[in-house]
Amino acid sequence: MAPFDALAELNACRQKLLEQRLMGVDANGVGFGNLSVRDGSMRSFYITGSATGGLPELTPTDCVRVMAYDFARNWLRYEGAAMPSSESLTHAAIYESDSSTSAVIHCHDSGLWATLLDRTPTTSKSVAYGTPEMAYEITRLFKGTDLRSRKILEMAGHEGGIAAFGKNLEDTFDVVMRERRESSPCI
Ligand SMILES: [Zn+2]
Repeated sequence: MAPFDALAELNACRQKLLEQRLMGVDANGVGFGNLSVRDGSMRSFYITGSATGGLPELTPTDCVRVMAYDFARNWLRYEGAAMPSSESLTHAAIYESDSSTSAVIHCHDSGLWATLLDRTPTTSKSVAYGTPEMAYEITRLFKGTDLRSRKILEMAGHEGGIAAFGKNLEDTFDVVMRERRESSPCI
């Protein structure tokens, strides 16, 4: 895939997420965490490739551009050499639900996850990550909760899994850090 403008912003944000251990590699050596940025005012977006969580810095070949998707068919069309993150449809559901969102971060934090459970809009425990059901759950939360203003959701069926969104990656990272501070005032 050709280099794209948002790659520098993406790498800068990943750097902070890695430092905070909000993304990285788990005890089994599996990378976790993914982020995306909307492609201008389009429905398409750039997202980090599958299993890139442990890489210190990404090149264009580690990312894909999601061009089209269909929740019902669990289908997406993308451009790029990497495998799109398995949570691409989750990101798509957020962009589709909130036109003011231009960045999404999916990260893991078991402490914050335990604190936020059912205290922020939370997807049903029976819904697994990376499924069409997750995309529908996100849509449901936007309609039935204060998620639009809260800007952070919790995945009850995906331990440690949190997604935040905002008008850019920096703001979105700040949403996560603010929640973290509020959930552990002694640190
Ligand atoms: Zn995850």
